[in-house]
Amino acid sequence: MAGLTIENLTKSYHGVAVVDKVSFTVAPGEFCILLGPSGCGKSTILRLIAGLEEQEGGRIMIGDRDIGALNPRDRDVAMVFQSYALYPHLNVYENIAFPLRVRKTPAGEVDRRVREAAALLEIADLLPRRPREISGGQRQRVAIGRAIVRNPRLFLFDEPLSNLDAKLRAAMRVELAALHRRLRATTLYVTHDQVEAMTLGQKIVLMDRGVVRQIGAPRELYERPANLFAASFLGAPPINLFTGVVTGTGAARTVRLTDPPIDLGWEIDTVAAAGEMVTVGIRPEAVRIGTGPLRGVLEHLEHTGADTILYLRLGTARLIAREAADFSSPLGAALDLDFDPRSLHFFHKGQRV
Ligand code: ADP
Ligand code: MG
Repeated sequence: MAGLTIENLTKSYHGVAVVDKVSFTVAPGEFCILLGPSGCGKSTILRLIAGLEEQEGGRIMIGDRDIGALNPRDRDVAMVFQSYALYPHLNVYENIAFPLRVRKTPAGEVDRRVREAAALLEIADLLPRRPREISGGQRQRVAIGRAIVRNPRLFLFDEPLSNLDAKLRAAMRVELAALHRRLRATTLYVTHDQVEAMTLGQKIVLMDRGVVRQIGAPRELYERPANLFAASFLGAPPINLFTGVVTGTGAARTVRLTDPPIDLGWEIDTVAAAGEMVTVGIRPEAVRIGTGPLRGVLEHLEHTGADTILYLRLGTARLIAREAADFSSPLGAALDLDFDPRSLHFFHKGQRV
């Protein structure tokens, strides 16, 4: 099995770099997520890897072979699109068989591989049907089947679940993870959905406007965001951000928040020098309601079933907290609260400190 190495990959449209010196690797057999907001360059990277766009600079390696100059069909890469791109006039069988037919694979081999993929994806009974006669989720499986039969060196997925409703999306997430455990194929999977990224990926490459912001395991990105972009992009409800200034010296240093104007009541050792501005990030689950030096006014409550989301006002700032499902309190109540000091993130000029 081969891995993927991307080095300084660059692509511009009309003089604007939409992929700007992007570098990352996908280990052999790894499921890697390319995550980022719409327009950040994810699909462009997939198209560059597949050879559907011409790269301007950088290298694309599968194993130790630079594939940048190869024709798309010689790259041994299979891509699954959001739109499925099935042929409406062909039945499911022929849609899955299509890439093998193009390669003039012998009929017996085609039949064996199509039936194997259909069984794996549990769509064997749909083989005679046309795409319009099956559901969206089933069409997605057919598109995946068409990629699987090729037994490619690399799978590329471009937001394959975004046309499905929320429940089906969650079910397909589980199935894709199970499929990957069986096939162990090197996979690069594009999504803008952080839940999909957190649950599916072994590694996340987080992008913003054409550049890589952080690479790591899902939990690493959540627990140690390298910058404000990563901190804000991952997490729902989102991380709370406050500005503050470092005060004191040596071991007695702390951070004084600007609004509300309070000192965080403990020492900090990782933060920049006294007088410097920092941004303090506090995840909703790091807010502790009940006791503490701070007081927030409860403005809104959401019971999600599994937990309760509190929307509080703290001075003129807003604060989101996550509490247990059985939490209740009247709106307008003033609640004492505190932050878990081990769960604070500090950023200086946008970078973690
Ligand atoms: P994503 O998949 O992350 O949503 P894309 O890779 O599709 O982002 O697009 C990245 C940027 O490149 C966007 O600003 C998009 O408008 C621009 N772009 C993509 N394809 C073209 C093209 N063929 N011509 C001009 N601009 C393009
Ligand atoms: Mg896209």
